[in-house]
Amino acid sequence: DPRIAAVKSRIPVFPDFPKPGIQFYDIFSLFQQPSLCSDVVDLFYEHFISKYPSTKIDAVLGLDARGFLFAPPLAEKFKANFVPVRKSGKLPGVVASCSYSLEYGEAEIEIQEHALQKGQNVIIVDDLMATGGTMSTACLLAQNMNVNVIQCQCVIELTGLNGVKQLPEGTDMYSIVQFE
Ligand code: IMP
Repeated sequence: DPRIAAVKSRIPVFPDFPKPGIQFYDIFSLFQQPSLCSDVVDLFYEHFISKYPSTKIDAVLGLDARGFLFAPPLAEKFKANFVPVRKSGKLPGVVASCSYSLEYGEAEIEIQEHALQKGQNVIIVDDLMATGGTMSTACLLAQNMNVNVIQCQCVIELTGLNGVKQLPEGTDMYSIVQFE
């Protein structure tokens, strides 16, 4: 698909950002060619409906912060709700939360309780999966709220880190472009 090659060619890598040894892939460059952003959303949508032609999606969960760039337009295509998954302390009202360990210390992500109903089908979207820690925690949080995670989607997957292995067993993961 020429759109996939175009997306891949527009993602620059910054060595040693934000600290030495980290290769940082900069998704914001896609927004300097606006048609690529809608291509990303179309690719997510087309992949899903070709694999699951008769599955109704109720909500698209976007991960804080760059998942928010793609999840709302994708949700609109599915005629589904957009539900933000945010770092702790950002969402008002009653929230469900799940914590995970980082290199130093712990982090926590949250979803508003009222945003999801038991038994709903959801997709989880982020810009990039590295170790899989963030995406796997989002899956666990969604599952704790008794919704069905049909697929996880990200623009970039760093395959060398084997993040897919972190995800709950049987999780379906789709990435548009891959880097080692
Ligand atoms: P993980 O939890 O190790 O899979 O890291 C994924 C999270 O960190 C995602 O929410 C990404 O937005 C962010 N992230 C990690 N590496 C990069 C990068 O190279 N570019 C942009 N975001 C990154």
